[in-house]
Amino acid sequence: MRFFLVSILAIAVAACSGPSSRKAPRRPNIVVIYADDHAERAIGACGSPFAHTPNIDRLAAGGMRFTQSFVANSICGPARATFLTGLHSHANGMTSNRSRLRRDVPNIAQRLQAAGYRTGVIGKWHLDSDPEGFDDWALLRGGYYNPDLVTAAGRSPTTGYTTEIVTENALRWLEARRGKDEPFFTWISHTASHRTWRPGPQYLKRYDGTRIEEPGTLFDDYAGRSRAAAEAQMRISRDLFPAYDLKLPVTGEGILDTNAENMLAGMTEGQRAAWRAAYDDKNRAFAEAELGGKELVRWKYQRYMRDYLRCVDALDDSVGAILDYLEESGLSENTIVIYTSDQGFFLGEHGWYDKRWMYEPSLRTPLIVRWPGVTQGGSTNDRLVQNIDLAPTLAAMADLRDEPEMHGASLVPLLRGQTPPWRDAIYYHYQQLDSGRTSHTVARHCGVRGERFKLMHLYDYDDWELYDLESDPDEVRNLYGNPEYAETAAALRETLADLQHRFGDRLQKR
Ligand code: CA
Repeated sequence: MRFFLVSILAIAVAACSGPSSRKAPRRPNIVVIYADDHAERAIGACGSPFAHTPNIDRLAAGGMRFTQSFVANSICGPARATFLTGLHSHANGMTSNRSRLRRDVPNIAQRLQAAGYRTGVIGKWHLDSDPEGFDDWALLRGGYYNPDLVTAAGRSPTTGYTTEIVTENALRWLEARRGKDEPFFTWISHTASHRTWRPGPQYLKRYDGTRIEEPGTLFDDYAGRSRAAAEAQMRISRDLFPAYDLKLPVTGEGILDTNAENMLAGMTEGQRAAWRAAYDDKNRAFAEAELGGKELVRWKYQRYMRDYLRCVDALDDSVGAILDYLEESGLSENTIVIYTSDQGFFLGEHGWYDKRWMYEPSLRTPLIVRWPGVTQGGSTNDRLVQNIDLAPTLAAMADLRDEPEMHGASLVPLLRGQTPPWRDAIYYHYQQLDSGRTSHTVARHCGVRGERFKLMHLYDYDDWELYDLESDPDEVRNLYGNPEYAETAAALRETLADLQHRFGDRLQKR
């Protein structure tokens, strides 16, 4: 009798869950909030000593944060191409900001669209093509204030702060999706916190009284490393432009006029007034102080960092507005929210701003995923993940069945809390050839990073660098050539050769 009952129950359960009677679960919506140059070290949830990001932290509290998240090529256009294709730069064609994304490589938006997703991109595009795979698009042309928006209908001017304009357009797009049957994917692509770090009117005076902690390598002397490090033009001490970056309008010999047209061009009267109210007095005080040497570098660092963090604050408010909307609209339950940046950024480490390098601050990028019912709230994952994994992850989230070649792996098992076999090293290749005043002249390099060691090859100079990230997290003691680490170096060179072979990447001579 007991056996009979169990059998009946089993049959009943099978009938309810069988393919014939099961209603297909609704595929999740996917919202990717994509920042530009937002370093992990400027996110509270990632342990920032100075950033306040309550909304990004709130996302992390509801989802999973990847503690070892990296990019494949730390620069804007190539990072976006890798996000869309799941491929390293050489394979998708976008090897530098001046390259072209290959048209014959399927992008994740096209694939989601073909599978019935409504797709939209709002904000920065930075690829030399129309936004293929997107039903709707509103792309930014311009900087932090009053940008133009380009849509299928044409180009139109806007008035306002760019981060907020991106947010408003994203909310409008989401509102139009509410109540529709089809799932959606949207890529909310900010220009913040990219150079020239112009804060919005409501953020201009934040951090005025706050002294931002300096990194230990602000006055790095680049000893022991390839000469490429000393040659790079991204020093806070020397390479920031007075007007554009430091908001110090200079005419002739000194700071004469904060109304310099090159800085305030394109602003409304109200925006100009707010700007001058924020900077004029501080600039006068700076001129009177007549700083020099290290004190001048420290001042520049403070100004850079305060403006950077003001731009991050606007990003964080944007995340808050999106999360609030999803909750209020009832969309939250079935919507995956991902926060990431195209790459990391130097916040004074090695005396630098900017990115490009395989050193940790620019190699790392924040990655937080909230998937209600799947990710455990407030969890972290320390596997080595990379932006080549994003497209495969989105494909798995949407249960796509096409399988184009991609270099990355789906993070979905990790998001589910599983522990599948995983890579023990990531491959990196920066390959933009640069020279001249407006470039950063960072030498091309490739390398591998494991859990503990990192090997870099500056192949135009045939220089090598090896770091033990455990004992030297700041990467100032190059161990390459040190006999104690000869075996480690040899093993990593083999890993590098293996990964280059596996991905089909060949170094191009000048
Ligand atoms: Ca960027």
